[in-house]
Amino acid sequence: MKLTTLPRLRLATLPTPLHRAEHLSAALGGPDIWFKRDDLTGFGLGGNKVRKLEFLGADAVAQGADVIVTGAGAQSNHVRTTVAVARRLGLACRVVFHSSRPPETQGNLLLDELMGAEIVFTDNPDRSQLDQRIVAEGERLKAEGRKPYVIGRGGASALGCASYVAGVRELTEQLIDIQLQPDHLVCAVGSCGTLAGLIAGTRWLQAGYRLQGITVSRPRQEVLARLQRLAAETAELLDLTLELLFDQTQVNIYDDYIGPGYGIPTPACIEAIRLAAQTEGIFLDPVYTGKAMAGLIDLIRKGQIVKGETVVFLHTGGWPALFAHTEALMTSTDF
Ligand SMILES: *Cc1c(COP(=O)(O)O)cnc(C)c1O
Repeated sequence: MKLTTLPRLRLATLPTPLHRAEHLSAALGGPDIWFKRDDLTGFGLGGNKVRKLEFLGADAVAQGADVIVTGAGAQSNHVRTTVAVARRLGLACRVVFHSSRPPETQGNLLLDELMGAEIVFTDNPDRSQLDQRIVAEGERLKAEGRKPYVIGRGGASALGCASYVAGVRELTEQLIDIQLQPDHLVCAVGSCGTLAGLIAGTRWLQAGYRLQGITVSRPRQEVLARLQRLAAETAELLDLTLELLFDQTQVNIYDDYIGPGYGIPTPACIEAIRLAAQTEGIFLDPVYTGKAMAGLIDLIRKGQIVKGETVVFLHTGGWPALFAHTEALMTSTDF
């Protein structure tokens, strides 16, 4: 099916701004950095998941669902956005969180509660079992006579990825308008759906920039395997014949910025959050974009991205999680 004929809700405020980060660029003394503000997609406090859910939500409606089922960790942006979309569609939302309920209801979890999500904690920290648990929850609801629509972690399916093929088209139009030819696009990588869509989209539209993915959870090889599968499935869904090379001129994946683990902010991540806030009044998040910016800063310091080049940093959102990490953010001031 063609991109333009795929069923789609209209929830995001598009196009999101493309904003030149003059003071951040000056502070880093390197390339010209621009923010693509997908933190400002608007609906349900925004972020990249709104784009994916325009397609996934439309599919849920087409399938006659009465409840959407998904899951992740308690501070998930994907879950918060999915609950918001379900509510907009007049549907219930069943959420499976790994681990146990945190002592404080803050950030995204607070927003999920305000929206009346039906929340289940697995009381097991193992994230790898979560997708099965989400599917099992869907089966349980079906047995109760409900009509569940199941969305896997991060909305990383061909349908979700297709939204970032559309995102590349949107960015391409903006770049033509201002006659900007970036050398790199940097983004955070979690479930890999966003970057897989960007890979398919940039091949389709023959964009001239390289994709630089900073993974915040999965190791590099796992990311590459997922990207290859998801980008191929996305191309197939959209009837696109693409040469997906996965060589260094197309996409680089860095797993050097994860630190002790997913969702644990590193000192470099906190430094990046403070720097973007102090130079641009832009809030990065402690789980994804802070680490992606830490990666960009490091690549500049190592001379892998240099003065004279232009970088688009895809700001994928995630601010609510800032409020669940106040202690880490306030204690690390020694840089
Ligand atoms: C989910 C998320 C990402 C990662 O996107 P994926 O498509 O899961 O790789 C990046 N940034 C933020 C803020 C997110 O919520």
